[in-house]
Amino acid sequence: MEKKQKHLATLCVQAGWEPKNGESRIVPIYQSTTFKYDNTDEMSDLFDLKKAGYFYTRLSNPTNDAVARKIAALEGGVGAMLTSSGQAANFYAIFNICEAGDHFVVASEIYGGTYNLFSVTLKKLGIDCTFVNQDASEEEIGAAFRPNTKALFGETVSNPGCRVLDIEKFARIAHSHGVPLIIDNTFPTPINCRPFEWGADIVTHSTTKYMDGHATQVGGCVVDSGNFDWEAHADKFPGLTTPDESYHGLTYTKTFGKMAYMTKLTAQLMRDFGCIPSPHNAFLLNVGLETLHLRMPRHCENAQKVAEFLSADDRVAWVNYSGLKDNRDHQLAQKYLPNGSCGVIAFG
Ligand SMILES: *Cc1c(COP(=O)(O)O)cnc(C)c1O
Repeated sequence: MEKKQKHLATLCVQAGWEPKNGESRIVPIYQSTTFKYDNTDEMSDLFDLKKAGYFYTRLSNPTNDAVARKIAALEGGVGAMLTSSGQAANFYAIFNICEAGDHFVVASEIYGGTYNLFSVTLKKLGIDCTFVNQDASEEEIGAAFRPNTKALFGETVSNPGCRVLDIEKFARIAHSHGVPLIIDNTFPTPINCRPFEWGADIVTHSTTKYMDGHATQVGGCVVDSGNFDWEAHADKFPGLTTPDESYHGLTYTKTFGKMAYMTKLTAQLMRDFGCIPSPHNAFLLNVGLETLHLRMPRHCENAQKVAEFLSADDRVAWVNYSGLKDNRDHQLAQKYLPNGSCGVIAFG
């Protein structure tokens, strides 16, 4: 196993939870709504974000946080937050930087649930989006941007079309328009692709799929690279760069620096929308993550065999799997997914 894959394997097992002498070896389930303090001053400092700590599970919970730290470590991000589903993760990732009157650009090859969320439900909140052909040139995709565009979004490997995104191209387009690139990395997982290494700024996941791997929990995650300079485009992102009335006039970029996006996500959106996973679900997700590095290569091996088998059968009109040498995305896959993509195959 190459060094990087070994390192990822270690993170799958060890990251996020470092028990001290005599503490639980496994991430414990803090199945508690509230946390105890000796006096009200300690509580109010936590509430005002003057200190870090736990007081109410809707805002943060030690089990959820430990599992989020593991995913952040796997993706190479500065922080992560678990959500109750992948849908919630994509909603939060966009809504953290878009409000009524804003717009974002999306690769057209995306999951159906995300398509509905973006094209129907977010429109009802006054947030508009434009779908672009991900194979188009940088100029053509760039033409979809408007002065009120706040993000570019795509999936590393699309569900269910299995198209591979040219992440570097998308990062260049996003950054030349002063907005972050958000990548849904559900299918490859960080074992097969780490979008931050190719210039993506924010990564989302449906942890329901390979990360869990045992069909026990529905969940999601948002991870931030900490790389996007919100202050450099302050006029586009007032939610991060101007005072938040609901937090006594605190400005996220000034107080939290590289953690600005993550802090707004937890302190504001999770506080107000409350799509938290139960600590028990986070525990189940963590058990799945402990074998992610073993399962992903096997999923890819199996899918490759099935894809080759289907391609050789006359009754099959077409097969789309980037591991096939004659696949239109094979070159992109060799660049972004050298160890394989995922276990899903599209065929007709
Ligand atoms: C499943 C999926 C989602 C939605 O996640 P849920 O956990 O079902 O809410 C989002 N994006 C992709 C790529 C998915 O496969």
